[in-house]
Amino acid sequence: GEAIRAEGLAMTYAEGKLRTPVFEGLDLAVQSGETVAILGASGAGKSTLLHLLGGLDTPTSGEVFVAGQKMSSLSDAARGALRNQSLGFVYQFHHLLPEFTALENVMLPVLLSGAHVPDANKRAKALLESVGLGHRLDHKPGELSGGERQRAAVARALVNRPACVLGDEPTGNLDEKTAETVFELMLALNREQHTALVLVTHDRRLARRLDRVLELHEGKLRQLAPDEV
Ligand code: ADP
Ligand code: ADP
Repeated sequence: GEAIRAEGLAMTYAEGKLRTPVFEGLDLAVQSGETVAILGASGAGKSTLLHLLGGLDTPTSGEVFVAGQKMSSLSDAARGALRNQSLGFVYQFHHLLPEFTALENVMLPVLLSGAHVPDANKRAKALLESVGLGHRLDHKPGELSGGERQRAAVARALVNRPACVLGDEPTGNLDEKTAETVFELMLALNREQHTALVLVTHDRRLARRLDRVLELHEGKLRQLAPDEV
């Protein structure tokens, strides 16, 4: 089925005199299990697009559907629940809660979805083991290496088996070898869980390995042919 869809999406930031739209009439549909890279120059609107897809911001016009549900028709609480349940976020910075352990950080989305502590504990632990952090469960983010923190963030993003993972340069802060490991891990988990992946990246080598590569340029999304990536 369809994991996430944007229809006629437009965004114009209110501040500033010019009020030039970042984009308008933008359409995108990503199927379950499909992986999509979004390339584009700095300022092209990639982060804006990802924020709108993730329900972190409201488009000027157009609609976003996540797992078949229209975001704009939901209450704030229902949208929050949908985001927690059906979307996973991985950013350049891990955004793990510093005072909690890796295990607690990954348990949190499961608890928020209404699961009981023993279930959350079991699922978080299993996923942390599968990302190679079985020996780091009780470490706080400050006690983990950069690669380990990002792997914990990937585990947190996927622990609720979301319809779609949204990644904004998730490997952008890592050295090449660690970036490769984290990227491989995201792809493996996505494949295993049949999760869609929308990945904003500057790294064409990584982008090339996804099912589709789109470029955001002058407000339009264009699919690149393999030899253009
Ligand atoms: P990218 O992620 O491709 O670098 P962004 O989505 O961050 O692009 O930005 C797209 C455009 O929107 C840029 O011109 C940027 O300056 C502008 N922009 C982004 N966020 C805001 C904001 N909160 N308020 C006003 N303008 C913004
Ligand atoms: P990397 O080579 O992956 O960047 P580091 O050299 O930063 O890793 O750390 C090596 C190992 O030591 C990591 O697996 C990390 O979990 C652990 N570690 C690093 N800092 C601390 C700390 N302050 N407390 C406990 N463990 C730590």
